[in-house]
Amino acid sequence: MKKEGFGAVVVAAGSSQRMGGTGSKVFADLLGKPVLRWCLEALDRSGWAAEIALVCRPEDLEQAKAAAQGLSTPCVFTAGGATRQESVQKGVLALQPDWGYLLIHDGARPFVTEEIIDNVCADALRYGAATAAVPSKDTCKLGDPEGFVASTPPRERLSAVQTPQAFQRGMYEYAARRAQKEGLDCTDDCQLIEWAGGQVKLSQGSYRNIKLTTPEDLVTARALGREGQKEEISMRTGYGYDVHRLAPDRELILGGVRVPFEQGLLGHSDADVLTHAVCDALLGAAALGDIGRLFPDTDPRYEGADSLGLLKEVCGVLRCHGYEIGNIDATLIAQRPKIAPYVPQMRENLAAACGLTLSQVSVKATTEEGLGFTGAGEGMAAAAVCCIDRASPA
Ligand code: MG
Repeated sequence: MKKEGFGAVVVAAGSSQRMGGTGSKVFADLLGKPVLRWCLEALDRSGWAAEIALVCRPEDLEQAKAAAQGLSTPCVFTAGGATRQESVQKGVLALQPDWGYLLIHDGARPFVTEEIIDNVCADALRYGAATAAVPSKDTCKLGDPEGFVASTPPRERLSAVQTPQAFQRGMYEYAARRAQKEGLDCTDDCQLIEWAGGQVKLSQGSYRNIKLTTPEDLVTARALGREGQKEEISMRTGYGYDVHRLAPDRELILGGVRVPFEQGLLGHSDADVLTHAVCDALLGAAALGDIGRLFPDTDPRYEGADSLGLLKEVCGVLRCHGYEIGNIDATLIAQRPKIAPYVPQMRENLAAACGLTLSQVSVKATTEEGLGFTGAGEGMAAAAVCCIDRASPA
């Protein structure tokens, strides 16, 4: 799905009365960065926002600019209005008219994830309007003005709505104008669409996507943030396995080394079975599929391809996803020829392709005692495992 065309409005203009302090809650420190920065980074990473309009109090302008520094998405800044609805409108007006869709988010929801943004934007493209939401855990009561229970809506139909919310821009602007004319004020942007008779899709949000309202929320947020950081630095392991058939009149290339032998491995690329297993281990660790998906053998560009070059590309893809490689351990399974003399060069080739040191790359070889297809000399197999980690921030 094409990720473009969303103008994002981040609302950070609340007076934070319920936070108890005088400063705005969105600039409170949350594990080393302002609360507001967390959602800006998520929006930036998501790739959906073409532009971000940050709506803040005039006295917070400098802090808002600092919080948005270094983002790759262009940002504009504007002062908020008297109500949330007014603030959002001012944000929408500050955006370039080019974006066909709007994405509106509370600056006080730091734990929005790329996944939630994906869900909401994809649903908005499909249905015109969508909001992040989670099923209500609590039974809710509708109260009467005297403070008594008037009714109990069925819990299975209740959702707590969050942000982001996303809208087809024309639909949103029509609904906002209509609400303004009728003097309707709402606390939630979906309500505008509902009032105008439109449909809003409930998209998968997350219970972690909390809004910081009271000082206690900041304590919860610090705990949630720490938990998230732990998840981010966790190591991941990957496993790759590959087999190629042996055939005459082919060069035998293993770990990028031309090994003298009467046969070579058959394949679309150079059929370097060892390097392929390493590629698949790395992609597997990052849950990014396999080399067949990345370099389809129906694509003529990869005919006779140097597999070390493919490995380099795989490492580039991992780096783009924020991973660094810890170590690789690969095993070649072949009856003949003797592999040991070539192992040091294979390690060097693999390490160089991945940008690793020799100590991070292990290559071993084994036979299968004459058993099976490798034993019969029909083909060779290779298996590899690796560890990757979230790259430490520069
Ligand atoms: Mg292969």
